[in-house]
Amino acid sequence: MRFIVIANPVAGRGLAQASLPKLEDELKLLGISYDLKLTDSPNHASLLAAQAENYEGIIAVGGDGTINEVVNGMPKDKPLCVVPLGTGNDLARSLKIPFGLESLKTITQGKIKAINMGLENEGLFVSSVALGLASDVMQRVNSKRNHRLIRGSLAIYLDIVASAFGLKPLTLRIEADDKVREVKSILTYVMNTPYTGGGLFLAPKANPTDHLLDVVIVRDTKGFEILKLLPGVYSGKHVNHPHVEFLRAKNVTITSLEPAPKMIDGEIKGYTPLKASVSTENLLVYQPS
Ligand SMILES: [Mg+2]
Repeated sequence: MRFIVIANPVAGRGLAQASLPKLEDELKLLGISYDLKLTDSPNHASLLAAQAENYEGIIAVGGDGTINEVVNGMPKDKPLCVVPLGTGNDLARSLKIPFGLESLKTITQGKIKAINMGLENEGLFVSSVALGLASDVMQRVNSKRNHRLIRGSLAIYLDIVASAFGLKPLTLRIEADDKVREVKSILTYVMNTPYTGGGLFLAPKANPTDHLLDVVIVRDTKGFEILKLLPGVYSGKHVNHPHVEFLRAKNVTITSLEPAPKMIDGEIKGYTPLKASVSTENLLVYQPS
C-alpha cells in the first residue's frame, strides 16, 4: 500500500516542518510506503489531494485548515489519516485521534470509520463554521502566525479576551430547519464536531455521525460576561448558561444585518449569508479502534 502524504510545512507555526524527518522515519518503521508532497500556497493541499486516485489513502499533516483543504479536494472513497500538527487540531481532538506522529499508528492499528462533513456555500467543512467572535479571534491568530511565543489554546484564549471587549454583537436571523431565531449574538457556531477553537468543548453533544449539525448561539452578552462564560467552555460547563442556546438541524441558514466574515475550520472564507447542511457524502477517517 502506498500513501500520498500532504504536509503543510507552516502548520503549527513550523511544528509540521520540524516534524518531517521523524515523520518519514515513523512511516518507514510502520512499513508504509509513501510519496511526500509539501504545500506551498493556499489551496495547494486541495490540488494535491485530487491526485490521490491511485493511492491507498491520504495522510494529511497539519492543522484543521490543512485538513479542510485536503477534504475538499480528495476522492471521497479514499481513507484519510489525520496527523495533527496544527494550532487547533479540533477534528483530531473530537475523534480522539492522538496528536503528532503517534496518529500514524491509526493506519496500522486503528479502524477506518465514516464521519459526516458539513457542506457550506464556500465548500465542505469538517469541524465548524462560525460567525462573530470566532472570526475576529482567527483574524488575530492568523495575523501573528509566524511570530509568537505562546502556542495553542492559550494563544487563542488571549485573542478571545481582546475580541470579547472589542467586537460589536451581530444582528442575526438563524433558521435551523423549522426553528427561527432573531438574535443579537457575539458568537454563533454551526458545528459538526464537539470541539472548536483549539480545545473549546463548545457543542458537547455534537456527534459527527448523526447526520445533523449543532448550532450554538451565545446571545445578548459580551465583554466580562463572555470571559466569565469561557473557562467553563473548555469542560462543557456552559451548557446550562442562560445566554447560550443549542439547536440541532439538517439545514441551517444564517443571515446578518451587516455582512459578517465566516470562519470555516479555522480559516476566514467569505461573508454571510451562511448556508450549511450535512453533506450526502461521508468522509473515511483512520481512527483509534
Ligand atoms: Mg452531527
